[in-house]
Amino acid sequence: PAETPAVTASGSAPVELPRYDRAGIRTGIVHFGLGNFHRAHQAMFLDRLLALGEGNEWGICGVGVMPGDARMRDVLAAQDSLFTLVLKSGTGELDARVIGSIHDYRFAPDDREAVLAELTAETTRIVSLTVTEGGYRLPEEGTENPLGVFDLIVTGLARRRAAGTVPFTVMSCDNLPGNGEVARGVILEAARRRDPELAAWIAENVAFPSSMVDRITPVTTDADRALVRDTFGVEDAWPVVAEPFVQWVLEDHFTAGRPALEKVGVQLVSDVAPYEKMKLRLLNASHQGMAYFGLLLGHTFAHEATTDPRIVAFLHRFLAESRPTLDPVPGIDLDDYVNTLFERFTNPAIADTLNRLATDAGSRIPTFVLPTIVDNIAAGRDVTFGAALVASWVFQLERDGHAQPAQTEIEHNLTALAAKLEAEPRAIIEYAPVFGDIATHDAFVTPYLATLEALRRDGAAATLDALNGSAE
Ligand code: NAD
Repeated sequence: PAETPAVTASGSAPVELPRYDRAGIRTGIVHFGLGNFHRAHQAMFLDRLLALGEGNEWGICGVGVMPGDARMRDVLAAQDSLFTLVLKSGTGELDARVIGSIHDYRFAPDDREAVLAELTAETTRIVSLTVTEGGYRLPEEGTENPLGVFDLIVTGLARRRAAGTVPFTVMSCDNLPGNGEVARGVILEAARRRDPELAAWIAENVAFPSSMVDRITPVTTDADRALVRDTFGVEDAWPVVAEPFVQWVLEDHFTAGRPALEKVGVQLVSDVAPYEKMKLRLLNASHQGMAYFGLLLGHTFAHEATTDPRIVAFLHRFLAESRPTLDPVPGIDLDDYVNTLFERFTNPAIADTLNRLATDAGSRIPTFVLPTIVDNIAAGRDVTFGAALVASWVFQLERDGHAQPAQTEIEHNLTALAAKLEAEPRAIIEYAPVFGDIATHDAFVTPYLATLEALRRDGAAATLDALNGSAE
């Protein structure tokens, strides 16, 4: 096969290439949802390990189940599974490396049995996931999706059990609180529907470590492809760009061994929960806080929104409201953490779009924002800024929601409810699949309705000025 990305002599800047023997790599990890984040994070850590001369048995085989993943299949097939990762610092430095840890790919709609063969191989010891927050919903009971991630995993586990093969570990790397527990819950439910004894065996024998993962990784643009070609001399149909910052805190709980990730910068801990909570409630919630207000103020990129003083002031007030809900985080100074967050957000080279941050809000708002509000209400603390964030989303949905076709049933329902808001201001917050019972708490509803009304009446700029100027 053509060994591309092809490195030509024309590149003016150096690019680091895999110096290890890729022919010796075997699949130890099957990864579902091989997108940009996985390639900038887990695949990069395994590439580091391979560069140390270790971990040959932990090569990655990607699996795509969505129709859109056919493109990843084709790109990887044409490039011997290689791709370029370019890290862009805020001061303009670039660091490029060709990542070699992914060595195979299976597209489930082409050949379901080929995916199952990977899942049942004794040498496969970890199945990891970045299938987005919305990817953890099972189809309704009674409906089947044999190409769904969880159907494939449960089938793989059932076959291993029947063959007496040790089960693999299931390692979720999605942005969900307790992502290991969430994956476990979904897989046990999918297994129970098939055979309660299988579910009991999985509960007893399979490890589901939780993890906190962090590296802002935007969607690849044509300009990124041109940069990789012109600056580094690499012809790559789908490179990845990301910020230099990277973090992975991983619960050290594995069914059948793991790569020596502690040698390449991964923090292995017994309890990930405080790290995860910190990251979701500060970083991911801030992304929500900048996305809708940012779009309403006419910004396109995260670095524009986070250099707009109105949004900066709002985010600081929102973070001050969130911090009392965190638990102590071993080894982390929260003031430093927040300062670093703003440095990362304002990195212009990343050009993360507010539209990317605003996708899948029906999953992201309840994951990143509502738990903080619920905790603050329970503790009798103010939720003005959390409620205002929710109102910014709802107002932006009302204004622009119909511009994008709904991808999920929840999105479809939310867009329909947004159309009724004029007459029924509580329409969206009473939608239980997203909001639970939060609309029964006046402590939330009062500031929420006040901000929604202010946005309608005065616009985003004046609303933020009023919020930010309100008494400390
Ligand atoms: P991406 O769009 O590049 O890739 C997403 C992958 O998930 C694709 O392969 C897609 O086909 C697959 N997918 C989507 N819905 C699915 C479903 N219902 N079932 C199975 N597969 C599905 O996105 P990305 O940037 O790689 O982000 C993916 C996830 O990684 C995020 O949702 C988040 O949980 C996590 N993450 C991302 C970042 C980031 O900055 N991009 C940072 C931390 C964590």
